[in-house]
Amino acid sequence: MHSIADMQREATRSISSTLVIDLTTSRIEVQCLLQHVLNVQRAYLLAHPEQKLDELQMCAFDALLQRRLHGEPIAHLLGEREFFGLNFKVTPDTLIPRPDTELLVEMALQKLLSLHATLPQLRSREPKSAARVLDLGTGTGAIALSIAHSHPNVEVTAVDASLAALQVARENVQRLAITNACFVQSNWFAALGDQRFDLIVSNPPYISEGDIHLTQGDVRFEPLSALTSGADGLDDLRRIIQEAPNFLMHEGWLLLEHGHDQAERVRAVLMTHQFEQVFSEKDLAGIERVTGGKLCSLSKTKTC
Ligand code: GLN
Repeated sequence: MHSIADMQREATRSISSTLVIDLTTSRIEVQCLLQHVLNVQRAYLLAHPEQKLDELQMCAFDALLQRRLHGEPIAHLLGEREFFGLNFKVTPDTLIPRPDTELLVEMALQKLLSLHATLPQLRSREPKSAARVLDLGTGTGAIALSIAHSHPNVEVTAVDASLAALQVARENVQRLAITNACFVQSNWFAALGDQRFDLIVSNPPYISEGDIHLTQGDVRFEPLSALTSGADGLDDLRRIIQEAPNFLMHEGWLLLEHGHDQAERVRAVLMTHQFEQVFSEKDLAGIERVTGGKLCSLSKTKTC
């Protein structure tokens, strides 16, 4: 029988050498797997290094370890991933929520505060329905539900073209007991009719087809439709920017996540499609990751 400490040491070494990832990350991954198998918190692992795993626990741990050694993402093995302090169910039908994307949520929350202070159409509405937010390509619902959770007064609509992804998002609504978010199957804006929103957010696919990084790490196990978008990765971003003015209230904001080298091009597309106050915001790694703009007000539409 192996102890928690033995398993941790051996598994950390094999993950690190097989998948070529650093020892610190490998150790965290092993701790996550052990927590899952033993159904304990991390503190328990640290406090009981000598505890032996029983036969069943050894088998369960080994099965997960083997899958990890074949490259399967930790989020798929655990079936969940934390994002913005909430725990989301994740399956191979959805993109795995990334820490980078928390920046998009932070920017959305900031814009909601400023919208509420400035827009007459919001001030005159019932406090119950302070603002309408749309999340395009919601996947697990991570962005939409983080916004809905932080702002119970906001009404969030989230769309995805994939029914399988929507099913995961709907399970996350239940899991997080959120009541101010609804989900619609839609290819970007296609099923939204004449609805208009105060804020539109999206983390669309933005990787170039054929990008070498699609053959490495977790992305190999994620849906390609959530990752790639044409030869330069910008097809969906361009389409969203082009169509967004028809679905935004005047002076509403559009906020988009994009690739590490796309900020300048995204800003340029926004500026040619009636957006003003165009800006980009850097993620924790110092990379411009979110770009946004405000739809010109009615009076300025002609000159913008
Ligand atoms: N940020 C992800 C990655 O580079 C891609 C997510 C996306 O295309 N929206 O792995």
